[in-house]
Amino acid sequence: MSSERLEAHRAVVGESFDIRRALPSRHRRTIGAWCFLDHAGPANYKAGQGLTIGPHPHIGLQTFSWMVEGKILHNDSLGFSQWIHPGQVNLMTAGRGISHAEESPQDVAGRFQLAQLWIALPENERHREPSLQHHPELPLLDRGGFRITVLAGTFAGERAPAEVFSPLLGLDLATVGSAATELSLDPSFEHGVLTLEGAPSVDGKTLAPGTLLYLGTGRGSLKFESSAASRLLVIGGRPFGEEILLWWNFVARSAAEMETATRDWLEGRRFGQVRGARGAPLVAPDPRGLRMRSAGG
Ligand code: MN
Repeated sequence: MSSERLEAHRAVVGESFDIRRALPSRHRRTIGAWCFLDHAGPANYKAGQGLTIGPHPHIGLQTFSWMVEGKILHNDSLGFSQWIHPGQVNLMTAGRGISHAEESPQDVAGRFQLAQLWIALPENERHREPSLQHHPELPLLDRGGFRITVLAGTFAGERAPAEVFSPLLGLDLATVGSAATELSLDPSFEHGVLTLEGAPSVDGKTLAPGTLLYLGTGRGSLKFESSAASRLLVIGGRPFGEEILLWWNFVARSAAEMETATRDWLEGRRFGQVRGARGAPLVAPDPRGLRMRSAGG
């Protein structure tokens, strides 16, 4: 059974936040329909220096925010203004187009840890109307000392409330001490495991934060062990099967679509208006570079 260790790379989000980007990576662009995975923090920030991401557009995807520590405020062009607290999932379906902004509480020091993922929408859903779901309560299970939160999909008969459009799975495993369990997996799914904190072992090997363990299809179970406090994220899904293009904040199928979306954002069409955001709107990079990149492979 295939498994592969992929190093996350560092990226900067907002004005100064250091994050680890596990997906897409050079060698793997999707795990099921999951096409993006950023792990931000854990970090303490000073008053006035929290996360600020100004208004920016999305198409063709769902943003899936899993708040681990701290809280952020989401504002979007549908008019939703929603605080996201620890243990909650915020799911924004961009479809044909939406814009949003995210920010930490202002003028107070805080602590912050967030996993933000994107889910690619399949061809028959990617032009749908945009929507927002906020899920303050998720199914919880206890297994061998791990507290398991079902973030997306179904696990052990427990179904997460997030509305998704491809067969997929998202789990958070957390322990404050020693724990060991073997979880059943759907063998038709491929999976990825990312350690958020601590030094647990997965499939018998230590998995440090910053490395994504990729597991191909055909796996019916996976062992997790930890001798101290740790936290892991498990994502999975049926291999997506559609070629996607991911560029800036867009998921589409062609450079022409990216250019149109960029122009629409620049000229104030399609993506509405985000009210109540502190940060300035983000400026899209020049999509001509994308056409050259696609042409060059
Ligand atoms: Mn966004």
